[in-house]
Amino acid sequence: MWQVVGQSRVVSLLQRSLERGSIAHAYLVVGPPHVGKMTLALNLAQALNCQGDDPPCGLCDSCQKIASGKHADVQIIGLDSNNSAEISIDQIRQVQHSSNLPPFEGRYKVFIIDGAELMSTEAANCLLKTLEEPAAGVIFILLTTSGGVLPATVVSRCQRLELPPLAASEVEDVLSQRWGVERQRAGLLARLCHGCLGWAILAASDERLLELRAERLEGLLDIIGGSYTVRFAYVPQLVAWFGQSRGLVQEILDLWLDWWRDLLLVKLGSGSTITNIDHQSTLVDMARGYRLEQIRAVINGIQATGEQLRQNANPRLAFEVLMLSIPPGRGG
Ligand SMILES: [Zn+2]
Repeated sequence: MWQVVGQSRVVSLLQRSLERGSIAHAYLVVGPPHVGKMTLALNLAQALNCQGDDPPCGLCDSCQKIASGKHADVQIIGLDSNNSAEISIDQIRQVQHSSNLPPFEGRYKVFIIDGAELMSTEAANCLLKTLEEPAAGVIFILLTTSGGVLPATVVSRCQRLELPPLAASEVEDVLSQRWGVERQRAGLLARLCHGCLGWAILAASDERLLELRAERLEGLLDIIGGSYTVRFAYVPQLVAWFGQSRGLVQEILDLWLDWWRDLLLVKLGSGSTITNIDHQSTLVDMARGYRLEQIRAVINGIQATGEQLRQNANPRLAFEVLMLSIPPGRGG
């Protein structure tokens, strides 16, 4: 049984290909973080090597080894542990070498490249050579949050599989039925995860994720309600976080965006579709203090900041401009 949730279109496509024996040599699985890309890739690796009657059975020796990361013919390639920012050409050369050897215990060798957009240009070119001369019994599965960053030559060699975010109601049902999460909590997590079930499952078992969200929201409310002095005092912290991890700062900006989009929804009378359902009354109060175009301007400002940071703008300057762009709230 396929473990990936809510991706029936892609699953039935793969299922048909397996039945017809028309599996592609390379797949590009595109979707947001935690949407189920790795689960799908591992399920496909299981289906290709399954010894049971109904692949992927999940029960046979091969399926179990793949699930626990112990199958000799299924390899996951990602950022190595030396804190490097890219997948190196050396890693891809090893893949190339290994792909020339026959499968060790299964029918197919499967190479899953997690974060394929993080391959260096040399690594991507090296992979391209391998994709251009596909060896029998070797399947590449590239996972990426953004197909646009990969060289077009690599993309054109792959069959593209899009994994869209799930509906909040679908996530809520899975959380409560399959994972035993209490309904109200499931409802909140389903909205916070934006259709990416993996995040909701993590947050259901790890309190720290919701604690972290609470801290970040508190910081945001301080900034919104604070004077420019208070706001500017946050900037060095944001700059330091940015130095540590760009992803961390993007998470914070995403949370800010959610908040301001919620204010917009409340203002437009669509309060039932907000993300932060546990802060509904604060949002309703706060929305009264702003005009619609002010809220839209802040949303644009947060998006612009994210874009500037991606284009290597000076982070200090970018955050300061953002702080200035948030209008003082009621009483602020
Ligand atoms: Zn099996």
